[in-house]
Amino acid sequence: QNDLRFHGPIDGNVLAAMALARCGVDRMFGVVGIPVTSLATRAVSLGIRFIAFHNEQSAGYAASAYGYLTGRPGVLLTVSGPGCVHGLAGISNAMVNAWPLVMISGSCDQRDFGRGDFQELDQVEAVKPFSKISVKATDISEIPNCVARVLNSAVSGRPGGCYFDLPSDVLHQTISESEAERLLAAAEEFAHREVIPRVPNSQIEEAISLLKHAERPLIVFGKGAAIARAEGPLKKLVETTGIPFLPTPMGKGLLPDTHELAATAARSLAIGKCDVALVVGARLNWLLHFGEPPKWSKDVKFILVDICKEEVELRKPHLGLIGDAKEVLESINKEIKDDPFCLGKSHPWVEAISQKAKDNVAKMEVQLAKDVVPFNFLTPMRIIRDAILAVGSPAPILVSEGANTMDVGRSVLVQTEPRTRLDAGTWGTMGVGLGYCIAAAVASPDRLVVAVEGDSGFGFSAMEVETLVRYELPVVVIVFNNSGVYGGDRRTPQEITGPYKHDPAPTSFVPSASYDKMIEAFGGKGYYVESPEELKSALAESFSARKPAVVNVKIDPYAGAESGRLQHKN
Ligand code: ADP
Repeated sequence: QNDLRFHGPIDGNVLAAMALARCGVDRMFGVVGIPVTSLATRAVSLGIRFIAFHNEQSAGYAASAYGYLTGRPGVLLTVSGPGCVHGLAGISNAMVNAWPLVMISGSCDQRDFGRGDFQELDQVEAVKPFSKISVKATDISEIPNCVARVLNSAVSGRPGGCYFDLPSDVLHQTISESEAERLLAAAEEFAHREVIPRVPNSQIEEAISLLKHAERPLIVFGKGAAIARAEGPLKKLVETTGIPFLPTPMGKGLLPDTHELAATAARSLAIGKCDVALVVGARLNWLLHFGEPPKWSKDVKFILVDICKEEVELRKPHLGLIGDAKEVLESINKEIKDDPFCLGKSHPWVEAISQKAKDNVAKMEVQLAKDVVPFNFLTPMRIIRDAILAVGSPAPILVSEGANTMDVGRSVLVQTEPRTRLDAGTWGTMGVGLGYCIAAAVASPDRLVVAVEGDSGFGFSAMEVETLVRYELPVVVIVFNNSGVYGGDRRTPQEITGPYKHDPAPTSFVPSASYDKMIEAFGGKGYYVESPEELKSALAESFSARKPAVVNVKIDPYAGAESGRLQHKN
């Protein structure tokens, strides 16, 4: 259907839609308006599914998560000027998370630029600091090649965001069908990801030797391993060598959290005492305490596997393997096959990790077992965990954001399948929730999507519940409603002074807001719950209905901590 022809002269909007279809794009996210509405409608007529949002920020977050979940660029379409600026949230989030995204924005007429044209902005320059490449078609003939370039670049090397600017005069230019066909064929040829060089065998051997001679080896993996779809070779490596593993928050699920070699519940011991750490597709940034003491031992030897040379150079590991995570792990497995080694369950390091994990899980279970009402964070999280596990395979995709909600959820909720967790990510971006839900439902139509988010995170993009209903997506959004950012008003009496002391605290929202009623305004299903029985029943019904729903869970405003687990940064 991508070959459907438009007859007669082809304009820029049609040519851009054709180029996207010919280069394999099958989904787009965005907000239409001047000058790109026709680009979106043409794309739909060429077989591309266009998900229309209320705000470019959410559409951008959706496109970035779609890129992560599928490994192909998520495409974001925005209008000129303010639309492009709103879209920066999505492209910058994609850059920081190293997810492939292409942002296409209409822009003002080139001839009127500089004279105060409608929605005028030098968009190519504005987007540059947030993108891998930022290009403009100054003439219609450049469109197909630009489309291929941005799509290629988004997935080549470290994935990221790429920008393509389409001025309105270019969108209104026309060319003949035969010229369009010639340009499209050339672009299609060009639209392939760069080939990554293989890691030399000597480095593979060195990595194996380090792991083999380590006393306390550890395998850490993150969302780079997830985007590389490295779960197969990762499982093989862990299981043949018996080395304990630790996923980063979004690495969770590449191997099941329930695996006997999972060190998740013994994280401090694992990173504090390991002597060799094989880190695959995860940056030694704040999330991994920069790989430094006091969290890590000062003598730990890092073996970093990363597709990005600059990343490896920045971290200065003992050994850096620059390549695709899946390929590198496959090479390691192949080499180990000839000379296998395995720590075994009775190895003191494996035993220590396993014991510590069991103890910590048991302690947590004691807390989780209590039915605390008014709800704290743990009781509803346990009920949600059990409901998600009861769904079985294919496991739901979990979307998680918020301070306490995300922190508690990370420890309690169980991931059993790869790429089933989307959270605030490297930037700790709040407001990603609804966009990620929509992307997840579009990327994996066979999976239920469950968002567990704070009321603050939900509020950033709550209007997109209408988008859920409009596209009838199987998404259940569970809002932990503690009536504010971090919860209730935690100011001391000394802090409540000044002429505006009677205003609600900057952290407060309307108490007990009826978020469940919002979705009902659009025809979705809403639940308001205060007790374990009400929550169980709402989850049972909404999970089996697989229709858009909001479950508004009343949480004690004084449960949880300010800034969640990041109080030292506040
Ligand atoms: P996490 O948040 O899970 O710790 P990060 O986003 O910090 O993960 O790190 C992901 C890393 O994975 C980035 O440094 C990125 O360059 C790298 N990466 C991305 N794709 C691949 C791939 N195919 N193979 C190896 N590394 C990859």
